[in-house]
Amino acid sequence: MTLLGPAEIRQLAAQLNVRPTKALGQNFLHDANTIRRIVRAAELEPGETVLEIGPGLGSLTLGLLAAGHPVVAVEVDATLADALPATIAERLPAAQLTVLNADALRLAEVPGAPSALVANLPYNVAVPVVLHLLEVVPSLQRGLVMVQAEVADRLAAAPGSKVYGVPSVKVAWYAAATRAGAVPASVFWPAPNVESGLVRLLRRPPPVTSASRAQVFAAVDAAFAQRRKTLRAALAGWAGSAAAAEQALHAAGIDPQARGETLDVNQFARLAENRPRTR
Ligand code: SAM
Repeated sequence: MTLLGPAEIRQLAAQLNVRPTKALGQNFLHDANTIRRIVRAAELEPGETVLEIGPGLGSLTLGLLAAGHPVVAVEVDATLADALPATIAERLPAAQLTVLNADALRLAEVPGAPSALVANLPYNVAVPVVLHLLEVVPSLQRGLVMVQAEVADRLAAAPGSKVYGVPSVKVAWYAAATRAGAVPASVFWPAPNVESGLVRLLRRPPPVTSASRAQVFAAVDAAFAQRRKTLRAALAGWAGSAAAAEQALHAAGIDPQARGETLDVNQFARLAENRPRTR
């Protein structure tokens, strides 16, 4: 079974009258080596069910199915979603594929209890998609996602790094994220303007805290909304006043002169626990 190369991708797009749109982040993989590399890097268990977001013309879907994985594919573009079963059936008649024509950001659940997320994500919504899926698909244990290189760096950044920010802390609530390599623009049609990067996700238990996830995320949003300010100043609105922020920071064991980019997710949880209750 051969994977989809440049000729097949062009031919499929022409047959379906598909013109890739930027709005939907449509950059299709047309390089079999990259597809095999992504499947390998995902470190899947034999036969485990994969959730793929944005299967597009089916390049990665075919790679996953050919490696023996049932795939649940969620595609927002109705033309692409409708065409996918036939594209796959022609090449891999016995493949176990479920296609949902839906917006990944609006999914409330997915069938088949997939345990891995593997996707070449639409770049404009990559971070919200990852966070939303980790929230609403509890069966997911691991993932390998391709995103733009800069976003890959943010997702995998550790506290203290220049690119550590809201995506880094929020993804850390659910999973350990690490960079898993770079991907050149030339493996896509059309080629995007930026390099891409692979990020590996490994689910882990969230911090033990009496604060809810929403409360912790509110503290994260507040701390990074004014990135260059000290936490005492940045959290004044969140706490009610700078003095109240200072008190909450002290109670959480955090230096009020520190900046948000130095705190890990556990420290944000401590902080959220100590938000003044009168607000
Ligand atoms: N997986 C294919 C590949 O590697 O060739 C296509 C990847 S392309 C970067 C992103 C895909 O995500 C497109 O097919 C696009 O239509 C789809 N997409 C964009 N926004 C989406 C959303 N909110 N939910 C589901 N799919 C989406």
